[in-house]
Amino acid sequence: KHPERSRRKRSRRELLKTHFGFDSFRPNQEEIIESVLAGEHTLAIMPTGGGKSLCFQLPALALEGTAIVISPLIALMKDQVDALNANGIMASYYNSSQPSEAQEEVLNNLMIGQLQLLYVAPESLWNLTNYFQKTEISLIAVDEAHCISAWGHDFRPAYTQLSRLQDEFPQTPIIALTATADRATQDDIMKQLRIENGKRFVSSFDRPNLYMEVRPGQQRIQQVLQFLKDKENQSGIIYCLSRKSTEKVAEKLVAKGYKAKAYHAGIEAEERSRIQEDFVNDRIPIIVATIAFGMGIDKSNVRWVIHYNMPKNIEGYYQEIGRSGRDGLPAHGLMFYSFADVVQLRKFATGTATEAFQLAKLERMQQFAEALSCRRKALLNYFGEHVIQDCGNCDICKMPPKYFDGTVIAQKICSAVARLQEQEAMGMVIDVLRGSQNAQIFEKGYQNIKTFAAAKEIPWKDLQQYVIQLLNQGVLEVWFHEKGRLVLTPTAKQILFEGKKVRLADLTQPEAVALTKEKT
Ligand code: ADP
Ligand code: ZN
Repeated sequence: KHPERSRRKRSRRELLKTHFGFDSFRPNQEEIIESVLAGEHTLAIMPTGGGKSLCFQLPALALEGTAIVISPLIALMKDQVDALNANGIMASYYNSSQPSEAQEEVLNNLMIGQLQLLYVAPESLWNLTNYFQKTEISLIAVDEAHCISAWGHDFRPAYTQLSRLQDEFPQTPIIALTATADRATQDDIMKQLRIENGKRFVSSFDRPNLYMEVRPGQQRIQQVLQFLKDKENQSGIIYCLSRKSTEKVAEKLVAKGYKAKAYHAGIEAEERSRIQEDFVNDRIPIIVATIAFGMGIDKSNVRWVIHYNMPKNIEGYYQEIGRSGRDGLPAHGLMFYSFADVVQLRKFATGTATEAFQLAKLERMQQFAEALSCRRKALLNYFGEHVIQDCGNCDICKMPPKYFDGTVIAQKICSAVARLQEQEAMGMVIDVLRGSQNAQIFEKGYQNIKTFAAAKEIPWKDLQQYVIQLLNQGVLEVWFHEKGRLVLTPTAKQILFEGKKVRLADLTQPEAVALTKEKT
């Protein structure tokens, strides 16, 4: 093996220009690439369309040897490899769906050093280690790295094996990439891959051109038709929870003269790719789909996304609305929210191995839907970006509820969270603030802490609403993987120690509770 890694002396920019045709790097790309080239393990969190691929493709060209790219989506491997080949880059893929002659040819090319990148499915990886031991491996890229974490939203068992990478390739830098990982999931990815000492780069997830709106889910089809009135010929996607409802909604739109198509996993593959192509080429403007639609399609002028039903977690929501407005022009994300959807989604989660965790994420999604403060702020804070400014481009910013100075309430809540050592979930925090006399409190001795009963004058439900508002304002965070305990963010510390003011929505205002009311 080659401990000191030789490098062709070609400048990064030259590679960027000659192989990819770009003049400049996108935010964080250069830093990530330098980190990989310096031999550091690296975690890159970057929104969809941010340009993650380049972060391992360019180092793969700059370094001697073959880069292994682990990717869960066999369907997308071919496209990526074709695009690389078209740019004169020596890349191939290896997976179980290939005929064995094709597999052999790939391995031959690998052995004679004719591959700069090799894409493999995680399942196939361990069959190839013998070959890898006999060749020079420049780096290992783990794409869609959130799949390794049971706390992520798309866990794949085959990914857990990747913790062995460090045993097999102790000298090789690993770069893990994903578009969706909250802070705890980011930590978990690094832990699972055993790259805790590596560098982490989190790009901004902000998409300021994307208008976000949530409406109560009543008479949805009428609302959709109304919404579409001034959207002639604009491309858009409507996401539904079930195959049946995609068909129903598409039918109703077609009946009103819209060119709309349903898309779901039950439609045969050939027809599906035809629909996808018609959408990409603007022949069909409206797709009514289950969540499967949109992964890996490159269409920059999607103008709107409607969630006919609430998504099951914030990661999914962000990913789906993020399929609109990639060209930077204004786009609209409209989500319908009804308690019936919550009930349905709870059913889906029940009985699964990660039930408690999924339910907690669902609850957080619901709290986002019921937000009474800037949605973008809530979303970005969820992904660990501590934003304090309101965005001005969401429904709440456009029509804010009436606020009052909630600094004292916020201080009490934060102080309780702190005094409970950030170990307790919302219910217990509220019980302590209310001075509840229940067995658990006495068992743990919480009646003796200083904030016990500090907010006893506020009704339980209202206090819960205030805690949720603090979550959405990025003052508190839920650690889903640890029993949903509440923890403080840097903003909370400013509230506690630096006199930072907090606004809370006045719960007596009817507008403020339009969305939350339906629950009770
Ligand atoms: P991601 O994997 O983060 O979703 P991709 O790697 O697929 O994003 O990149 C998204 C798009 O941006 C691609 O069309 C890619 O060619 C383009 N792109 C990436 N880096 C740059 C750059 N530095 N300059 C211009 N375009 C870029
Ligand atoms: Zn806003």
